[in-house]
Amino acid sequence: MAEKITMSADGVLHVPDNPIIPYIEGDGIGIDIWPAAQLVLDAAAAKHGKKVEWKQVLAGQKAFDETGEWLPEQTITDFREYLIGIKGPMTTPIGGGMRSLNVALRQILDLYVCLRPVRWFHGVPSPMKHPELVDMVIFRENTEDVYAGLEWPAGSPEAEKLRTFMIDTFGWNIREQTALGIKPISKFASDRLIREAIKYALKNGRKSVTFVHKGNVQKYTEGAFMKWGYELVKAEFDDVAVGWDDCGGDPGTKLLVKDVIADIAFQQCLLRPAEMDVIATTNLNGDYLSDALAAQVGGIGIAPGANINYLTGHGIFEATHGTAPKYAGQDKVNPGSVLLSGVLMFEHLGWQGAADDIVRALEATIADKIVTYDFARQMEGATEVKCSEFGVAVADHL
Ligand code: NAP
Repeated sequence: MAEKITMSADGVLHVPDNPIIPYIEGDGIGIDIWPAAQLVLDAAAAKHGKKVEWKQVLAGQKAFDETGEWLPEQTITDFREYLIGIKGPMTTPIGGGMRSLNVALRQILDLYVCLRPVRWFHGVPSPMKHPELVDMVIFRENTEDVYAGLEWPAGSPEAEKLRTFMIDTFGWNIREQTALGIKPISKFASDRLIREAIKYALKNGRKSVTFVHKGNVQKYTEGAFMKWGYELVKAEFDDVAVGWDDCGGDPGTKLLVKDVIADIAFQQCLLRPAEMDVIATTNLNGDYLSDALAAQVGGIGIAPGANINYLTGHGIFEATHGTAPKYAGQDKVNPGSVLLSGVLMFEHLGWQGAADDIVRALEATIADKIVTYDFARQMEGATEVKCSEFGVAVADHL
């Protein structure tokens, strides 16, 4: 009988062999990629004596068409109740006061970590000379920074009030007709994000954690993120981790914690990818960095992601690309992003065997040059297949 995933008071997830997992199929290409991915996830789980009871929940265009609401209360209730869920891409409603359904879900469930592992899968076309050196895991802060939605249009009464206040109180020189936004970076949110990045690095035997920040210019926001991070290492991880300045770059047996300015980080990820491992960063930096790194190893068509609150146990795993409306319903695009998000979810649930099997099958399929259009256009002699055919091929390789 299917059961709920639960979390005990000591923060441990309890995952039955037949868990109920809510899923949002997604808009646009969601109808193509979800069934292809589900086929593979189910086949891999079955090999290991597991079975997911998928529970469809609604959000996005499909929800609006069926219920008149973009994000029905029932969907939030289900994600709260069943803890772990997965989703395809969603259409963002234009107007109506909601900026993004994804941001709304993250804020409502306080999913403070955006987790984006970036690694190369054997055979995937890449612009890098050595894509195998790209193996990074990004922890992006998910609740504040310029994504907090605290901004006003130029010339609005609110922007004018704030502008006048800042001119009168601080003597700041802010031009007329200036749009204003607030970039909140708190110690609370920085600490909990960085703490999870360090715990992840320790648990998974990673070499280093790098804070990516723009603290040379934004000293009191991005700079504080880095400063609080180093303080946290000393306060909570002194026996197992050490900051660069405290060890001269030689951490011995401890985990090395270092930092790099955001603009240089992009260069370093391209030129010396082996030096980057786990990355902890603020929201906007993380947004840019995760798509840029994904491009180094196959693009957003196969980039997985997750939004997690490690304290409550809530997690929503997600395809990181959008709805690609021009391809919707054509059974054409790559289901890799939502499939690998499922792999990430299986790993999170402790189903490592099933997760590893899918990765091996995916690599074997690509090695046979059976790929969707996005890879076919970059590979010599490839057999281009439909989205659903690719799912079947991966399942056959399991
Ligand atoms: P997009 O949907 O991500 O698509 C941009 C391009 O990325 C596509 O044209 C395609 O490139 C490539 N691509 C995306 N998914 C792919 C896949 N599965 N396989 C292969 N290639 C793939 O971005 P967009 O067109 O800017 O956004 C469309 C809508 O999605 C917007 O309404 C946006 O708000 C929404 N969106 C939702 C999410 C989310 O729910 N997580 C995220 C981002 C955007 P080629 O044209 O080169 O083939």
